[in-house]
Amino acid sequence: MPLPMGHAAIGLAFYEFSSNNNDALSRFKIFIFITILANLPDFDVIVGLLIKWNGNAFHRGPTHSMVFALIMGFIASRAWKFSSHIPRMNFGICSLIIFSHVLADFFFTSAPVSFLWPFKVNWCSGYSGWSDVLTSIFFQGFQDASIIIGSVISIILIRMIRGYSSNRYARLPIRKE
Ligand SMILES: [Zn+2]
Repeated sequence: MPLPMGHAAIGLAFYEFSSNNNDALSRFKIFIFITILANLPDFDVIVGLLIKWNGNAFHRGPTHSMVFALIMGFIASRAWKFSSHIPRMNFGICSLIIFSHVLADFFFTSAPVSFLWPFKVNWCSGYSGWSDVLTSIFFQGFQDASIIIGSVISIILIRMIRGYSSNRYARLPIRKE
């Protein structure tokens, strides 16, 4: 299953794909912001642990839906108004990064997500306590290696293609009218 770094890597690849990336914002702030957005749907694990002592209690419900990605994407796109530390990203990109989490869960795991909540919801079954969750985050991250490598390769390819096309335009002679 994709874990926090895997989701962050996929989110970064989506960001790279969908933005021009030429702004003056600090790269570190963007990285942190994307990591938070890409992992936002799994906030339901923390809620389950705090309320029911079971990380699966509310897992893969409303937070793993299109509606959640759109609402939280909208809030995230306005969050820069509240703190100068929060990068300014548009609604579409924020929603896409959040939704990349749901897509990754859907494609890389066998348990269903709740794309169509509130019309249809698929809760995660079973039990996952604090130690299970912490162990998977800190000691099973290597399972995401292939996802992270795939995301890095995607980012490099996108940059190469962008670099190639911008260099090509830069080399074109300026026509004097
Ligand atoms: Zn998830």
